[in-house]
Order: sequence, then C-alpha cells, then structure tokens
Amino acid sequence: MTDIRTGFGLDVHRFQPGRELWLCGVSIPDAPVGLLGHSDADVALHALCDALLGAAGLRDIGYYFPDTDAAYEGADSKKLLARVLELIDGKGWRLGNADITICAQTPKLAPFIERMRSCVAAIAGVETDAVAVKATTSEHLGFTGRKEGIAAFANVLIFKKHHEN
Ligand code: MG
Repeated sequence: MTDIRTGFGLDVHRFQPGRELWLCGVSIPDAPVGLLGHSDADVALHALCDALLGAAGLRDIGYYFPDTDAAYEGADSKKLLARVLELIDGKGWRLGNADITICAQTPKLAPFIERMRSCVAAIAGVETDAVAVKATTSEHLGFTGRKEGIAAFANVLIFKKHHEN
C-alpha cells in the first residue's frame, strides 16, 4: 500500500542590485541583479521547501529557518532543502515528483533549466525526470512584470510505502 500526499508552495523575493542570483540551487551568471533575502534568497527552492513541508503536514520554511536567526544569514538554500527533506523523511515521506514554476520578467532562464532540474534531483535523490522547472513571465504585468522581483510556485507529490508482512 502507498500513501500519497500533495503540497503547494509559493515564495516571492524582491530584486536587489549587487546580490548574486540563485534559482533552484544554480547561480545565474551575468544576472544584472540578485534577490534580497536573509539567506541566498533562492525563491524557487524556498517555494519547493514550503510545498514539501505542506504535503507532510509540517509548518513553513520561516518556522524552521527564521530570518531572525543569524545562523541562516546568507544560508545556502540547497542545505535548507536537504534539511526539509530530512524532516519529511522523519515522518516516513519521500519525494515523488516536483513541479516548479518561476515567474520572472528577467533574466531569461531557458539556458539554466536543465542544470536546475539536475541540482534539485541530486539533492532529493530522484531522477531528473521527476523534477520539472518551468520559467514564465507575467507579460509585463504586476511586480514581476515591472522587474521588481521574482515569484516561484511549487507543487509536489510525496509518498509513504507501507511494508506488508
Ligand atoms: Mg524566501
């Protein structure tokens, strides 16, 4: 028997000149601006973490990694994701697949999508095929359209296997 759950996560960070841009664990070279945040501000990994936590019936990323805690200043979000995967594993859950959408008017992300998928898949110990990363714009509408920041959305399926004997 297999139990399955789904989860959804959303995150937004504003652009900040002089910061490095990290998305899905990949540094985007030549990006004119990065994202402001207490950690490395990897908005896509933060959305993924919240989706995983939500699916497992846990709290949110801010609960486990508060931005008031100096320990997480400049934190590598890949490590936060690894910790979240440990938290859900502690409840018997494994990642089935993840579907991530990054909404950014700039920069163009197409050249980095495959590296992002591989990065997330390697951390989660799943096939690259189980991690989708999609990039879209908001057609110049709203805060992403005005190039004020980036929004990311993630859906996950997690599963728990029961051994029958
Ligand atoms: Mg965040």
